[in-house]
Amino acid sequence: MPVPIIHHPAFDAQFDAHHRFPMSKFTRLAEILVEDGIVGAGRFHMPAPALPGWLRLAHDARYVDQVLYQAVPPEMEKAIGFRVDERVAMRSRCATGGTVLTARLALAEGLACHTAGGSHHAARGGGAGFSVFNDVAVTASVLLADGDVGRVLVVDCDVHQGDGTAKIFAQDERVFTLSLHGEKNYPSEKAVSDLDVPLTDGTGDAAYLDALGAAIAQAFDTARPDLVFYNAGVDPHAEDRLGRLSLTDAGLFERDRRVIGFFRGRDIPVAAVIGGGYSRDIDRLARRHTIIHRVAREFG
Ligand SMILES: [Zn+2]
Repeated sequence: MPVPIIHHPAFDAQFDAHHRFPMSKFTRLAEILVEDGIVGAGRFHMPAPALPGWLRLAHDARYVDQVLYQAVPPEMEKAIGFRVDERVAMRSRCATGGTVLTARLALAEGLACHTAGGSHHAARGGGAGFSVFNDVAVTASVLLADGDVGRVLVVDCDVHQGDGTAKIFAQDERVFTLSLHGEKNYPSEKAVSDLDVPLTDGTGDAAYLDALGAAIAQAFDTARPDLVFYNAGVDPHAEDRLGRLSLTDAGLFERDRRVIGFFRGRDIPVAAVIGGGYSRDIDRLARRHTIIHRVAREFG
């Protein structure tokens, strides 16, 4: 069975090519998956936009309305890094709906991969750091509310700390948050995850993989999850504009293999989201984001 891959054209809100956020990577990522035969043409699973009621499970109703009606205060838009216009609002709803679909398909089939998601800096009261809605937090909340899962583990390997997710679930024992991140990377003021693994600048493949192995074993022992969300951000890569670690492509392949292998080996469903990645070279960046889909295929 091919591993389900989730995509929607609306993930690309079509920013100017010079914008700091490399928006066109979402379109190119989907193209590469088809070109390289990782997914058949027309075989993506297409999500519906997240319902407002879902969004309100992880975000304040006031903030959800501000996004849906394009009334996000300018200072918050500054913290997010772009204007939240109609297209961005729809993009954020579709990406979050995509994470819900990814998780539901993972529960049904063991493993599923998004082509967006991982907006982990958004907290209950508002967005930040290119994150409008915290798609993983919304999805975990929906599944917990529906009784589809009892316990959830978030394994966040984006180079930036999953501060929004950590804050949203700080008081919720059903959700265990693990974040491996560059200690000098954004955000400067870190939140407290259930398990934080801060890494020094220049940490390379070998030391990273050692830290990862220990962290997921420790998190698993405590979390005992029914479902794992895996944020496979590629910004720990040496060539990333914003990351400060020094992973190679081979290191990212091995990282994804170890995370998926650990949990699939224990028959725990894994829902993977792509997380962050920042490069001016959209083709190289989009290709790097396909590592998770290529690794997932090994487990299909
Ligand atoms: Zn990041």
